[in-house]
Amino acid sequence: MVRSTPGLTEGARTTRLPDVIEARGVRHNNLRDLDVDIPLWRVVAVAGVSGSGKSSLAIGTLYAEGMQRFLEGLSTYSRRRLSQSQRPDVDRIDHLPAALALRQRPPVPGLRSTVGTMSEVLNVLRLIMSRLGTHICPNGHPVTPSVSTQGMEITCPVCGAHFTHPGAESFAFNSYGACPACNGTGQRFEVDVDTLVPDEDKSIDDGAVLPWNSGGRRLYRYAAGQLGVRLDVPFRELTAEERDIVFHGPPAEREVTLREGTPRSVTLNVHYLNAVAAVEDAAGRDNAVSRSRVERFLRVQTCSVCHGTRLRPEALRSTLDGRNLAEISALTLDELRGFVERVPGLTPKDLARVANGLVKECLQVLNPLLQLGLGYLQLDRAGSTLSTGERQRLELTSTVRANTTGMLYVLDEPSVGLHPSNIEGLRSTIEMLAANGNSVVMVEHEIDIINAADWVVELGPGAGRDAAGCTRGPELGHRPVPGRPAGRPAHPPAGRRRGDRRRGGRAVQPARCPRLLPGERDDRGGRAVRRGQDRPGA
Ligand SMILES: [Zn+2]
Ligand SMILES: [Zn+2]
Repeated sequence: MVRSTPGLTEGARTTRLPDVIEARGVRHNNLRDLDVDIPLWRVVAVAGVSGSGKSSLAIGTLYAEGMQRFLEGLSTYSRRRLSQSQRPDVDRIDHLPAALALRQRPPVPGLRSTVGTMSEVLNVLRLIMSRLGTHICPNGHPVTPSVSTQGMEITCPVCGAHFTHPGAESFAFNSYGACPACNGTGQRFEVDVDTLVPDEDKSIDDGAVLPWNSGGRRLYRYAAGQLGVRLDVPFRELTAEERDIVFHGPPAEREVTLREGTPRSVTLNVHYLNAVAAVEDAAGRDNAVSRSRVERFLRVQTCSVCHGTRLRPEALRSTLDGRNLAEISALTLDELRGFVERVPGLTPKDLARVANGLVKECLQVLNPLLQLGLGYLQLDRAGSTLSTGERQRLELTSTVRANTTGMLYVLDEPSVGLHPSNIEGLRSTIEMLAANGNSVVMVEHEIDIINAADWVVELGPGAGRDAAGCTRGPELGHRPVPGRPAGRPAHPPAGRRRGDRRRGGRAVQPARCPRLLPGERDDRGGRAVRRGQDRPGA
């Protein structure tokens, strides 16, 4: 017979829900046995002068440990792999949720990333184009959207031709809609032959052919010698045939004997690549380092087939209010909002429900970006050209959209690069994370953002012994007992005991909280300080 386990009543369960992350004995990097309670389900700012260990606490400890525990839950395979990676040095951390970090320097996105793909605005826009766009029949007649164009196949009302309804992926440059000439990158890379041998007075032995000068590519020189190119005369004296081998010679296998720098000669089998092919080879690799080494030899040109729009010609024939997807993607996000808002007015009444739904979805993705002051960006802006601050804010809006709950989000200076007029937008975005039932810990210098946090953990100045002394602050140094949020048992004060090398971070009630004023720096001694009122319903 199945019986419910006694004692595990609803009431018992809710009263036992933890409300703080208890970190004890944190010694990561320059932190010295820090004890700190981080309130859960709140926005907590970690402040302090540089070198005080803000990142060590937030990123190096809370995030690193939270992420590892999360991954450990996934599989033994992950666990085995992760046990080798760095875990923070701590006595213990209790009640730590699975953690995600929004890095201060998100990685530079790949060639197929744009503001449109990173923000996911393009996903919705492709759907809008598919469902509400005017598509062209095989005989060139524009077919305006109607209820009868919503199926898999469209029949042209003029000539009766049937054609496949272009789906959203037909407008995706990282999928079916990609320009075949540039694979959806909008660019063609060409090796600029003039840059390969800038000094023709040098011989190949002396390094005249620049792409053959680094690492294993040095061997191509010797292979070229085997193929009949003179290596010890100034490059300008080479014959047309020799130059042709250097720049355009076909790949070839050659045995090369090396004497340079070795007492005995070594014979190697070398697969010869001419100077142009050597650059193309390095440029085509996924490795960003090897690509950056040859960047100076490349001429980047806009793809002549798609004119940089990344889309195949068919995808550019469909229009919405007279514009194709490339033209819409060239609008700024501010302009795009106006454009999208006009869409329901342009569609026939019987498609109003579809139009309103799609437009609402689009604005839901678009508005947070505008709130964070990104309205000047265009959807077709390449991700690789964005500043780190722009990338971080794009990442932040994606995170909010994900609608997760129960996570710990660690934000590394979310205000970097933010215009003061968008501080409010950032605050409400961060608050949305907490309102969804997540915990937020952010490293921040911007006083308006710090003051928007529910709590502040301040770490003491200096990277030395007292770096993480959370009770070192001039105001709080004499407080005998740290306050605790109402309704919670007081935690024994951890710091400032004679002969005890541990120092505690703690929470102080609002009345005692010396608010930082705008412009005031957050470089007082370390402590955890309560900000503002309790979240309603918490
Ligand atoms: Zn037709
Ligand atoms: Zn192209």
